[in-house]
Amino acid sequence: MTTTLLLWDIDGTLISAHGAGLEALRDALRTGLGVEDTLEAIELAGRTDRWIFRQILRHLGLPESDRLLKALETHYLAALPRRLEERGVHVLPGILSVLEQGARRQQVVQGLLTGNLRQGAELKLGHGGLWQHFPFGAFADDSENRNDLGPFAARRARQFCGAHIPSERIWVIGDTPHDVNCGRAAGFRTLAIATGRHSASELSAASPDATLENLADAAVFWNTVSA
Ligand SMILES: [Mg+2]
Repeated sequence: MTTTLLLWDIDGTLISAHGAGLEALRDALRTGLGVEDTLEAIELAGRTDRWIFRQILRHLGLPESDRLLKALETHYLAALPRRLEERGVHVLPGILSVLEQGARRQQVVQGLLTGNLRQGAELKLGHGGLWQHFPFGAFADDSENRNDLGPFAARRARQFCGAHIPSERIWVIGDTPHDVNCGRAAGFRTLAIATGRHSASELSAASPDATLENLADAAVFWNTVSA
C-alpha cells in the first residue's frame, strides 16, 4: 500500500496559543533589545520565526546582524513557556482524533512543516499534548524562507520510514496562503484549513488542492487526502 505523508503546520492548524507567540516576541524585544513595540506592523502568520526576527530588525531600523538575530531568538524562546502557561494552548476541532487515527493507520506517516523554531514547536505542541505525534519535521532552523522547507521535511520522512514517498502522496496542511505556496513550491499537494485568520474563500484564492472549514469530521479529512 502506498504511504501518505501528512506535513502539518502548527499555529492556526493544530492549535491556537491565543497570541502567546506574539507576546513572547514582544518580551524578546523588551528584554533582548530594550525596545517596546506592538509588532502590529509585522506579518506573522505563515512566516518562519527567523524571517520574523529579520523583519523586526528591519522595522526598527536596526542592523540585521547575527548577534541581534540570535538575541531575539534566545529571548523569544526564553519567554515562550511563561506566555504559553498564561494564555493556554487550545487544540483545534477534530485534530486529536485525526492525529490518533493517523497513528493507527499503517500507511500514514505524520510530520511537521512549520515556521516555528524546533524548540518553539516542541514547547507549543508539548503544552497542547501533541508533540509525541511528530517524530520529525522541518522548522525555521532549516531555513528562514518557508518555501524552502518542503525538501527538508521530505528528506526526514524518507530517513524515518526508510522509503521514498512520491510527491503526489505528500500533503502540506496549513491555515494560510503561505502554507499553500510552500507546499506547491515543493511539488506537494496542499490542504488549506480555515481555522486560523483566513476564511475558506481567502484560502481557496491561493488554489490549494483542497480547502476545509475545519477537521471536525475526520472521515471528510481522510477522504480528502485519500489515505
Ligand atoms: Mg499557521
